[in-house]
Amino acid sequence: MTTTRRDFLATALTAAGAAATPGMPAHQHDHEHQAVPSDFALRVKSLESLLVEKGLVDRAALDALVDAYEHKIGPRNGARVVARAWVDPAYKTRLLADANNAMAEFGYVYVSQQGDRMVVVENTPRVHNLIVCTLCSCYPWPVLGLPPVWYKSAPYRSRAVIDPRSVLREFGLELAEDVEVCVWDSTAEVRYLVLPERPASSERLSEEELAALVTRDAMVGVATVVLRPSEGNDERHT
Ligand code: FE
Repeated sequence: MTTTRRDFLATALTAAGAAATPGMPAHQHDHEHQAVPSDFALRVKSLESLLVEKGLVDRAALDALVDAYEHKIGPRNGARVVARAWVDPAYKTRLLADANNAMAEFGYVYVSQQGDRMVVVENTPRVHNLIVCTLCSCYPWPVLGLPPVWYKSAPYRSRAVIDPRSVLREFGLELAEDVEVCVWDSTAEVRYLVLPERPASSERLSEEELAALVTRDAMVGVATVVLRPSEGNDERHT
C-alpha cells in the first residue's frame, strides 16, 4: 500500500492526540513515538482540508503533483541533458538551437505547463552565463526542480544584474577578468539553463558518471562543474 503524506500526517496527529490524553499513564516499551508535526505542516494540512471540503482541489491531483516534484522532476533531469551535450556534439548543436525539442528526446516533458520556451546558454573559457529572474522567480522547473530560496531573494535578483562578479564571488566562484559575464533575465515565456564547461581530465568518464558531477548551481551559473580527485582519469578508468 502506498503511504501518502496525508497518511503520515494522520498517523502523527493520532499519535499526538493519544500522547495528550489526560489521565493516561506513561508507558514504557522499545519503540519511539512519532514526533508531532510542525506548525507549518499542520497549517498546510488545515488549508488542504478546507480546499478539499469546498471542492476547490482534488486530493489525488495534489498527491500526483507532490510525487512529480519529489521523484520525477529536478536537477537530475538537467544534469542528464548537460552530460549528453558533453559527449555528443550533434546533440549539443540541437540543444543550443532548440532546447525544448532536444530535451524532449529524453522522453520527459521538458516544456512546463505554462508553455515556456527553454534556452540553453553555453559557458566557454571566455564567457560565463548567469541566470536570474529580476521580476520574481521564473525558473526552469522541469529540468531543475523547485528554485532555491536564494534564487527568489531580492538581493540575488537585484545584485545578479548590478554586480554579478561579486555575487559569484560570494558563491565561491572567482572569474578571471578577461571572462565575460552574461546575465540572462528569465521570464514567464523564456527560461534559461546554463550548459557548464566540461571539467578537464574527464575524458574517460561515462555519460552517467558525468551527469553525477553536474549540480543545480552549475546549471544556474553560480558554480562550475569540478572533478574531485577520485573521479578523474585515475586507475579505476584505465
Ligand atoms: Fe519570475
